[in-house]
Amino acid sequence: MNIVVLVKQVPDTYSERKLRESDGILDRDATDNVIDEIDSRGVEAGLQLTEAHGGEVTVLTLGPDRATEVLRKALAMGAHKAVHVVDDAFAGSDALQTSAALAAALGKLEFDLIIAGNESTDGRTASVPAMLAERLGIPQVTFVRALEIDGTTLKAERTVDGGYTEVTSPIPAVVSVTEKINEPRYPNFKGIMAAKSKPVTTFSAEDLGLAAGDTGGAVSWSIVLDAAPRPPREAGEKVNDDGSAGTKVAEYLASARLI
Ligand SMILES: Cc1cc2nc3c(=O)[nH]c(=O)nc-3n(C[C@H](O)[C@H](O)[C@H](O)COP(=O)(O)OP(=O)(O)OC[C@H]3O[C@@H](n4cnc5c(N)ncnc54)[C@H](O)[C@@H]3O)c2cc1C
Repeated sequence: MNIVVLVKQVPDTYSERKLRESDGILDRDATDNVIDEIDSRGVEAGLQLTEAHGGEVTVLTLGPDRATEVLRKALAMGAHKAVHVVDDAFAGSDALQTSAALAAALGKLEFDLIIAGNESTDGRTASVPAMLAERLGIPQVTFVRALEIDGTTLKAERTVDGGYTEVTSPIPAVVSVTEKINEPRYPNFKGIMAAKSKPVTTFSAEDLGLAAGDTGGAVSWSIVLDAAPRPPREAGEKVNDDGSAGTKVAEYLASARLI
């Protein structure tokens, strides 16, 4: 079974994230960049399936040169090979353009299943997996918290309000996973050393048949019109307990329409 796992490099949620003043887009050079945690769970899900059924996990990313770091991390976890879609022509891509480039790259790979995170921690549109499924003309199963493969059918538990539903789908399909799916393994020393010699294929826009004017910011449908820094936090109101603190707190909550 060949599984492709989508992995995205995102600003570390523990570092301060800033928007670029010039165009209001996230300044990725101003922060530490890491593999999105939800995608490391996707890698774990792919590894568990190939450990049970055989086959290989390929990790795929679209991002600048430094996104190689997240591919190496996934390879160190145990993924077998990696594909990096990288070209200045992709700069400024929104979710539509990102999904188009990823779909073009997937057109060059063999896969039985595609695993993605449900929602990235930076863009947070939660739309790339659905767009990919539509572009590839295959089913999508969203909000997956448990996943099994039985022959050519996938069985999944989908998180819904108040519980879960059981879903089956033919494969190939796109599955997007939630944080409940698993706890990702840490790369060990052997895995880190092995990752250095695992194959990483790169695709440029031209390799994918995309001309410079067909992709990236020039044709993105989402445009940042304006952005402003968040105002500094204001000091809270302090209530000293002189015997009437309960009343004052209740009055405050009522004035803020919280009770
Ligand atoms: C006007 C504009 C300009 C932008 N310019 C840039 C830019 O120059 N550089 C930049 O990095 N971002 C840029 N972005 C952000 C970028 O468009 C989004 O990060 C991207 O479209 C993915 O959307 P998302 O993060 O909301 O994905 P979601 O749909 O929330 O992600 C869900 C899952 O899809 C998969 N996935 C998403 N993106 C990728 C990817 N790139 N590679 C592999 N798997 C992926 C992952 O598994 C992820 O967990 C720009 C956005 C806008 C609106």
